[in-house]
Amino acid sequence: MEQVFTPLPPVPDHPRLEEEILQWWEDEQVFQQLREKNRGGPKFRFMDGPITANAPAGVHHGLGRTLKDVFQRYKALRGHDLRYQNGFDSQGLHVEVQVEKGLGLNSKREIEEYGIAEFARRCREFVAHFAGIQTEQSKRLGMWMDWENSYFTFSDTNIEYIWRFLKNVHERGWLYKGHRSTQWCPRCGTSLSKHEQAGDENYEELEHPSLFVRFPLVEREGEALVVWTTTPWTLPANVAAAVKPDATYGRSENGDWVSVDVFPDGNYVERLRGEDLVGLHYRAPFDDLPAQQGVEHRVIPWDDVALDEGTGIVHIAPGAGAEDFELSRVHGLVVLTPIDESGRFLPGYGEFEGRTTDAVAEPVLEWLREHELLVEEGTIRHRYPVCWRCRTPLVFRVVDDWFISAAEIRQLMLEGNDEVAWQPAQYKKRMDDWLRNMSDWNISRRRYFGLPLPFYPCDCGRLNVIGSRAELDKRALSGLEQLEELHRPWIDAVTIRCEDCGAEVKRIEEVGDAWLDAGIVHFSTLGWQNPEWVPDGNATGSARGLTHADLPDHAYWDEWFPADWVSENRAQIRLWFYSQCFMAISLVGRQPYRSVLTYENLLDEHGREMHKSWGNAIELNEALDRMGADVMRWLYCEQNPSQELRFGYSLADDVKRRLLTFWNSVSFFVTYANIAGFDPSTPAGALRPLDGWLASRTSAFVSEATESYERYWTPGVVDAFERFVDDLSNWYIRRSRRRFWDGDETALRVLWDALCTSLQVIAPVMPFLAEYLWRNLVSKDKSVFLDRWPEGAEIDEALNAEVAAVRQVVELGRQARAASRLKLRQPLRRVVVAGADGARSHAGEIAEELRVKEVEFGDVEASELRVKPNLPLLGPKLGAALRDVREALARGEFDELDGGHFRVGEHELAPDEVLVERTGKEGWSVASADGVTVALDTGLDPELELEARVLDLIHQINAMRKEQGLELTDRIRITLPPAQSDLLQHEEWIKQETLAVEIEIDAGCGEPRIAKA
Ligand SMILES: [Zn+2]
Ligand SMILES: [Zn+2]
Repeated sequence: MEQVFTPLPPVPDHPRLEEEILQWWEDEQVFQQLREKNRGGPKFRFMDGPITANAPAGVHHGLGRTLKDVFQRYKALRGHDLRYQNGFDSQGLHVEVQVEKGLGLNSKREIEEYGIAEFARRCREFVAHFAGIQTEQSKRLGMWMDWENSYFTFSDTNIEYIWRFLKNVHERGWLYKGHRSTQWCPRCGTSLSKHEQAGDENYEELEHPSLFVRFPLVEREGEALVVWTTTPWTLPANVAAAVKPDATYGRSENGDWVSVDVFPDGNYVERLRGEDLVGLHYRAPFDDLPAQQGVEHRVIPWDDVALDEGTGIVHIAPGAGAEDFELSRVHGLVVLTPIDESGRFLPGYGEFEGRTTDAVAEPVLEWLREHELLVEEGTIRHRYPVCWRCRTPLVFRVVDDWFISAAEIRQLMLEGNDEVAWQPAQYKKRMDDWLRNMSDWNISRRRYFGLPLPFYPCDCGRLNVIGSRAELDKRALSGLEQLEELHRPWIDAVTIRCEDCGAEVKRIEEVGDAWLDAGIVHFSTLGWQNPEWVPDGNATGSARGLTHADLPDHAYWDEWFPADWVSENRAQIRLWFYSQCFMAISLVGRQPYRSVLTYENLLDEHGREMHKSWGNAIELNEALDRMGADVMRWLYCEQNPSQELRFGYSLADDVKRRLLTFWNSVSFFVTYANIAGFDPSTPAGALRPLDGWLASRTSAFVSEATESYERYWTPGVVDAFERFVDDLSNWYIRRSRRRFWDGDETALRVLWDALCTSLQVIAPVMPFLAEYLWRNLVSKDKSVFLDRWPEGAEIDEALNAEVAAVRQVVELGRQARAASRLKLRQPLRRVVVAGADGARSHAGEIAEELRVKEVEFGDVEASELRVKPNLPLLGPKLGAALRDVREALARGEFDELDGGHFRVGEHELAPDEVLVERTGKEGWSVASADGVTVALDTGLDPELELEARVLDLIHQINAMRKEQGLELTDRIRITLPPAQSDLLQHEEWIKQETLAVEIEIDAGCGEPRIAKA
């Protein structure tokens, strides 16, 4: 017999079939065909948030990439025209720190010795390398993108667009240079912004010294203030001590002053209010240092002094702390800045000069001990900020940074966010919270391979801001000839003419925050205000040779802005979601996207973070090789994005197990379709009710899955698929088996339709498996992705509900049987069903499924009923009345109503608001849920017992057939021992179920035997 369909192996080899499909897609140019087919269709505007090309992609990147691909594939299946432009984040600290590591450089001095030009070239090579690797990985994951035309944030085009933005905010008066105390990474040698540092992941549990130090008072000889510090290095920069004016301070006999609130049990010989201490002078520990000469050390008032730790007296060093710096402005304190940008002490600090903040801790301690200024020393473990990029503990420095004011734009951004559909919805409020609290945007970084800030301040007071390369060319006085790209060091050599006084001015050395790079892409990649389309127009500067991305014209931008959808991790609320909104609202007053899908982080399968050093990290490539892309995609898609996602091999095994139900259904079809010589082009014959149900159930599945896709909700798609497959396999196929054995063309046709439709629907989630099976079932030549989205045919809601009720009855019947410990093959006399009237017309099916002779619909009297409140639902509904209802239920004072409802006094309770327990009376086994009760009569008689033995025999014979490798169509002869001769009362039944042509009894036989006839 000719086999139309290729028989499937018992389990799919995911990685192997995926490689095969990838090759086929490549050979047939399926993606290009898809783009061609959808060109001119309705647009689906997706803007890719760039991935940092500084390492191979990890399994956490796999999550975001999968979600992007799922919805792009879905929209394409629906005929939408898409851009498919991938983005690479390619400059800034992300890249620099990795390149430094690779080159063995560990400070800015070493980078400068290495040479900034060489360093920039290494950074570009590094990005090119990892962009290539990430591209290959993404393809293997099944991501369809226009890889030849990826954008790179380090292109000159991107840089120019950011320049334009900066000029725009400057013209509006939002740009300023701020003299601030700021979080500083001494290794990277730069300040960091609040939005970069805000995440929990940027804190570590660290151990630091915990010191209680005396500041001897000048006006009160023999007395001293006691302060607490965990940063001994800041003591040489001390200029004041702060007390809480309305708090009480006490002096012990030894002269030490502390807060009475902090140390309530102290023995105090004198008490004063904080305000009485204000104005006193003290001798600071290091006031002999040259830097300390002329500094007047005094007690200042501060309402925010904490009284839950320390001593209630705070050491103030304005050059080494943010709040300290603010206090220096209020009280006119001297600001001593003790360390340079690499965290080493400056001249003026005696023996500390040139040493790091860590290195001075010990000499500071020794000095304090020697001078009897140390009251107590210990250590403390606390959460301490570390550099988001290199994990070095941060310090505070007072420096000049460039800021964009958030004052005017805040409200506009909030209004913009109001229009956005967030999925999951609760993240909209998180974005609002961030916007309400965001401080001015610190955009300057003292680094090398980043966006060159186009700021040229002149001594005349004019800040010149360059808005484009053309403007730079026009105003340049020197250096243009060597400007190979807009990066440092080349840009630094270009000087320009001051707009006001005509003087020659130089660019500041700072580069920009990397989120400026990513935030501008709605403009730089779409050609905003660009008069003419420029081929390869985004392949400029460092991006030259890495891409062929064009710079489109403004008309194109008009068509593709704003994005319909963007999707990134939740952390991007304070990063990319923020920066793109800031920039779009500044430039065009519009929100850059209409809807968002965001998601939480990825953890290992035990719920721990993945770390290489913990041995639980999984490489993306390893996961692709071991579990396969579809299984990974399934794991990514099935979990709720508002929860941290669990990922690992045993979860993958579970997915593979569950996917087998579907695989086995297809395999079942293939087997019987081949035997029957089934031809899919044959129209279906007259449908039986079950066939009609499967068609209707399939339509319902299409509709549920479509609804979930439309709201970017993958867990809904996966859940709808799994429920559908369960119905398909455990109801339709199970109930129609005999028809398949008989080669019923209609059953085959109906099953084929349902399988094909389910492949189309699940294809965006599992593109490889869907394509593989589609090629087997439908077409060797035409991809499932080139077909159309299945039409939602008519849904017979009543029929679907009916069969759902039947399945529920059967499920409860099985539970009751399991509780009775009667084996499944034991036929029973009777089942009574209550509360499932919809199943009434399916009594025959229920009888067969539960192996009972008779199905009765009516009241189940064979049980005792106990009803309890479902507290999570009823509590909020009933409030104070809950108690009475609960007690009445416990006393049995309720009426049972139709459909699983109950009445208690004046309250009517819905089926899901109560938990119903029924216990069978003697001789009955009962199960119930959601208002449906099923009671099995467990009484046996000789007839039922004989039938059970017949069923056992049939089962045994069929297992033997399989063991002996017989074809499904092979006929057999059975030989039975005399002890089983009574089973021949059911000879015809046995023959039918085992394809036996003859059954004989042989006295010499101890066990049943079979032989091919
Ligand atoms: Zn750092
Ligand atoms: Zn000037």
